[in-house]
Amino acid sequence: MTTYHTHTAWSDGAAPLPAMCDAAAGAGVAEFGVSDHYVLLPSGHDVDWAMPLGFLDGYVAQVRDYIEMETRFALRLGLEADFFPETIGDLSARLEAHPFDYVIGSVHILDGFPIDADPSYWVPLSESERNTVWQGYLARMCGMAQSGVFDIAGHLDLPKKFGDQPTVDLSADFAAALDAIAAADMALELNTAGWDKPVAEAYPTLALLREARRRGIPLVITADAHAPAELTRHYPRAVALAREAGYTAQARFAGRKRVEVAL
Ligand SMILES: [Zn+2]
Ligand SMILES: [Zn+2]
Repeated sequence: MTTYHTHTAWSDGAAPLPAMCDAAAGAGVAEFGVSDHYVLLPSGHDVDWAMPLGFLDGYVAQVRDYIEMETRFALRLGLEADFFPETIGDLSARLEAHPFDYVIGSVHILDGFPIDADPSYWVPLSESERNTVWQGYLARMCGMAQSGVFDIAGHLDLPKKFGDQPTVDLSADFAAALDAIAAADMALELNTAGWDKPVAEAYPTLALLREARRRGIPLVITADAHAPAELTRHYPRAVALAREAGYTAQARFAGRKRVEVAL
């Protein structure tokens, strides 16, 4: 068991790294990866749910110190970084400067629209505007994969979080995103946080997991934990879902190299 998508007080997590490490030991995981938010907005401004841009060195230094000390499990240095076409070159250079074990590529903001911040942003949108957000989001996920900068595709169908399902057929858009993820030799996360959101589904759906499996895309089960108690939330259910989709293994990362371990 691993838990790779986790947030500490460096970004919007509730607990500092030491408390999360203790919780990971208590949960009995083999590997615990920290992946705080890093958001290089085109405007250059900071967002309040990510670490300030100038804190990356301090974050990396603290996680590396704990990697040296930790004996209860393997601690991994990760990051959940947002993809923007305008800043991907700058982001890539900043990532290269540090010895990350893996980087999760996510899209939380689309042309200024905060996709998963609060349901109130979706309320004024018409049905066609909602569908446009979905299509734009999936196009960004393609761009994220095509950039070659990331190791794991984050919450593939995030716009469903508050229950705003598309009302047009997006199967070609999802297929294009999955094709790009496969071509980039990236893994996909099965993120259990969605079960605790209004949509009450994991990210992504069983149908999308089957499509990913069919393309040979490796899987990582994650909890998107923002608190110690969430580190392995819904894992038995996630393993069952992964198996139902045809998966028999999941990926682990060290030094941005991937190996697969039986589920
Ligand atoms: Zn995220
Ligand atoms: Zn996250």
